[in-house]
Amino acid sequence: MNAVNRTLSGYRRIVIKIGSSLLVDPKTGMKGDWLRSLADDVAMLKARNHEVLIVSSGAIALGRRILNLRRGPLRLEESQAAAAAGQIALARAYSEALGHHDIQAGQILVTLSDTEERRRYLNARSTIETLLKVGAVPIINENDTVATSEIRYGDNDRLAARVATMMTSDLLVLFSDIDGLYTAPPAQDPEARFVERVPVISHEIEAMAGDVGTELSRGGMVTKIEAGKIATASGTAMVIASGTRLNPVRSLDESGYGTWFDAVGNPVSSRKKWIAGQLGVCGRLHLDEGAERALNSGKSLLAAGIRKVEGDFVRGDIVALIGPAGIEIGRGIVAYDSQEARAIFGRQSSEITGILGYAGRSAVVHRDDLAVRPMTGDNEG
Ligand code: GLU
Repeated sequence: MNAVNRTLSGYRRIVIKIGSSLLVDPKTGMKGDWLRSLADDVAMLKARNHEVLIVSSGAIALGRRILNLRRGPLRLEESQAAAAAGQIALARAYSEALGHHDIQAGQILVTLSDTEERRRYLNARSTIETLLKVGAVPIINENDTVATSEIRYGDNDRLAARVATMMTSDLLVLFSDIDGLYTAPPAQDPEARFVERVPVISHEIEAMAGDVGTELSRGGMVTKIEAGKIATASGTAMVIASGTRLNPVRSLDESGYGTWFDAVGNPVSSRKKWIAGQLGVCGRLHLDEGAERALNSGKSLLAAGIRKVEGDFVRGDIVALIGPAGIEIGRGIVAYDSQEARAIFGRQSSEITGILGYAGRSAVVHRDDLAVRPMTGDNEG
């Protein structure tokens, strides 16, 4: 288990989840000053070499004002209409606020199943990875307009946790108008104590979640604890903190005030463990010596290093990687369908577009998607 440090400095890749109530005032709309202060903080984090992803709620809250929808609970189609109008405003506001710092924003709308279903998951992940690589900040929200079930406030807590684990983030920050976890709902119980650190999410911790919540963040603590379970089990630490002040990230970094959840392991090793532990493999890729060496030194598997492709698989399936000695040396999530893999194996990356007729992925199995067996003996090979 990794004990958390209560500043942001030890965490390289950080997902920040912004609750609706921070961003939108039901009476006056977008809280522009607050958003600009958040953008200042993001610029500060980037200057300190952190990678930043934002999962932002607020589309529905903004959209219902824009469309002049009645107060009170909305029907599903009204929420979706509100989200459709609000998301444009939300994305523009982020893009302008970050633009002041010459930071580009990229909008990603996902559904919870995009992060669960492997093929779509791979696509979302490589898009987000590419945005990060070019220095942009992904602004992520649920694709509410196509959601088929009720849209609930609080869904974004879980969505943010899934994004954090999908992107092997080191830390998930859940900012809302709640400053953290209490031993009992503080509004009802004067004895309630603040919990600074959660080493493990026990039944006792779950019971504490009770039902703290305001109108705009009805999900309250329960969904935050759910998010914590998803994140920490995959090696991502989490902190629940109040974001109500201006410059919320800076104030969290300076004060450390919030409820910090320890991660189990680290996100990259958890992901590799998950890959290695997959029972069924859908295919086998036989590698040459060069590819085996490349994998052992932490590189991706390129088409050029594959000598033979066995099995029927689709992009996103788990395949076994067989070394030149005929022994399985690892497993990975494959980026191509078996038909494509058969067309390109043994070929140089520069030839792939010509063979397939479209630009493929740079690797057949990306290094982040690989679990290579630790070598035994004195590491020969
Ligand atoms: N996706 C919703 C919105 O942007 C919010 C869901 C949530 O807050 O959890 O309005």
